[in-house]
Amino acid sequence: MRALSPPEPAAAAPMVPAAYRVARARQDTSDTWTLELSACDGDAFAFAPGQFTMLAAGGAGEVPISISGDPARTDMLVHTVRAVGPATRAICTARPGDVLSVRGPFGRPWPVEEIAGADVVVATGGIGLAPLRPAILHLLTHAERYGRLTLLYGARTPDQLLYPDALEAWAERGMDVHVTVDSAGPEWLGHVGVVTRLVRRAALAPARAVAMLCGPEIMMRFTVAALSESGISHDRIHASMERNMQCGIGHCGHCQLGPTLVCRDGPVYPWSALAPWLAIREL
Ligand SMILES: Cc1cc2nc3c(=O)[nH]c(=O)nc-3n(C[C@H](O)[C@H](O)[C@H](O)COP(=O)(O)OP(=O)(O)OC[C@H]3O[C@@H](n4cnc5c(N)ncnc54)[C@H](O)[C@@H]3O)c2cc1C
Repeated sequence: MRALSPPEPAAAAPMVPAAYRVARARQDTSDTWTLELSACDGDAFAFAPGQFTMLAAGGAGEVPISISGDPARTDMLVHTVRAVGPATRAICTARPGDVLSVRGPFGRPWPVEEIAGADVVVATGGIGLAPLRPAILHLLTHAERYGRLTLLYGARTPDQLLYPDALEAWAERGMDVHVTVDSAGPEWLGHVGVVTRLVRRAALAPARAVAMLCGPEIMMRFTVAALSESGISHDRIHASMERNMQCGIGHCGHCQLGPTLVCRDGPVYPWSALAPWLAIREL
């Protein structure tokens, strides 16, 4: 299991926001937008797949948002945001030329270096694909370092699927891409059902497979159960957790999970660490 020691400081002045200008804004679904941001002072930052920033538009509040761009590109900071409340609605209404405030990057990344040599299965639902997109791009760019790469992705309906063009491109680059939706009309020719069912179809080799999960907590619990049934042990499953966050740097304590702080010790954890805490009701 990975040790939960404190990470390196994210930045010299992690509470001081930097100004980023919206270069492009693309609507992905009815409530989700992808924003490409460029640093107003010209310096973007390097990040590791799975890290997040504290992002704000105007005075509507600062919220944690995962970086969803290619980690090989530091000229542009990419975020995919679902409008669920005041802060995310303000971010989603930003248009090219608008300036947002950004702090980060923060958090522990997906263990993409540590799992070299493994078959990697990425299992995700809804907006959960955004925090995993940098990891997928890293895996595909360095495909020779990994075994079989599999994506299991579920959304409520076909029009809620994120990045449909990228899903096709990743399949063309050799990823085994399985997509499912909870419900669809007759025009949908793909799978209907929950992501858990895709685990059974994917025929994973448990001794070689490592899983990375992000999505609603209930989806992750059921996916872990299905992966465990396939023989994959909890220390080979990694999940990104969401908790209410304010400072992003382990000072305020809002995002406590068990003995850890999600902003500092997560958001990515091995399931072997999470399982005992998630067994406690309302932790
Ligand atoms: C590490 C991390 C990475 C994240 N990455 C992304 C991302 O890439 N894209 C994205 O769209 N969102 C992401 N989120 C979730 C995002 O931070 C919340 O949606 C946001 O804080 C909501 O703020 P709000 O003011 O718009 O809405 P609020 O008024 O605060 O909340 C609206 C609704 O969303 C629920 N909610 C709020 N915050 C969370 C949360 N953290 N987890 C679960 N439910 C919540 C509330 O209970 C309420 O029902 C991430 C969260 C974390 C912790």
